[in-house]
Amino acid sequence: MKRDVPIVGIDLGATSLLAVIADARGQVLATAEADTPHDGPDPGPVVAEVARIVQKAARKADVKVSKLKALGIGAPGSVDLETGFIAKATNLDWLDVPLARHLEDALDLPSFVANDVQVAVMGEHAFGAARGARNAVAIWVGTGIGGGMILGGELYRGSHGAAGEIGHMAVVPDGPRCGCGQNGCVEAVASRSAIARDIEAAISARRKTLVPQIMRDKNKDRITASVLLAAASGGDKVVLELLERSRHYLAILVGNLLNVVDPEVVVLGGGMVEKFGDAMVAPIRQAALARAMPRPGQPPRIVASELGDHAGALGATVWARMRLDGFAR
Ligand SMILES: [Zn+2]
Repeated sequence: MKRDVPIVGIDLGATSLLAVIADARGQVLATAEADTPHDGPDPGPVVAEVARIVQKAARKADVKVSKLKALGIGAPGSVDLETGFIAKATNLDWLDVPLARHLEDALDLPSFVANDVQVAVMGEHAFGAARGARNAVAIWVGTGIGGGMILGGELYRGSHGAAGEIGHMAVVPDGPRCGCGQNGCVEAVASRSAIARDIEAAISARRKTLVPQIMRDKNKDRITASVLLAAASGGDKVVLELLERSRHYLAILVGNLLNVVDPEVVVLGGGMVEKFGDAMVAPIRQAALARAMPRPGQPPRIVASELGDHAGALGATVWARMRLDGFAR
């Protein structure tokens, strides 16, 4: 059997970098990771670190970087999919960065950039929980809430590449202020950062919570998903209430999307879903299905991501392969 030429996919996050070398079936040959360097608006250190972990993963996979077919990368912020130009990535302090060109210069590989959430959706569709679906919705719940839609078998990008801003669907009129400037977006009431914000408010109001002690024990300087899980396991009422609120609004979001999109599957992923698993997915599934309009046939599946931490990097290999095939046509 002819071995297909592997592609390297990168998940560029605000805190960490992951490189995955994978073949066309999504088989992972090697991975490498690093912390994301932060050096203000200069992308140089990040590009150098990406190049370093690509070399490292290639060594582990026993393949020369020059023998890889291409590089795909999912980056936070608004990305021009055609040019690989990042107009703005707030978490990285980047403005107008020609990321594809920088990576091509550093590694001499054809390089293709897409948004981090878009590639995760492509990854789940190609190799994960939405495999084979004509229509699917993916929702990533972590620091923020991101998402995307597969419609008619392809990532739906909208008129300007901006479709899928699922986290900014308003669910609470006049609710808390969201990072986008609006009020009551689902991200502002159901994300990890929304839960953290309200735990801090509860601490200021002198409500009893285990969170400060757990953060000290775990040596964490922020309220991570693992801090929340430990607090919930300890019966922390403040945390349990906020987790229930998060699930409630996520179920409203999923119910709305079921009615609008009529997908075969809804994939839930991101840091919170990774940590809480079915304790989060099952109640959302039940409440969302109860809200959705009746439809003929099987109910849509509402399931956890299958690729977990690898969704973005594997999806980036899918994106690169799609772009190469497009060029070949
Ligand atoms: Zn918003």
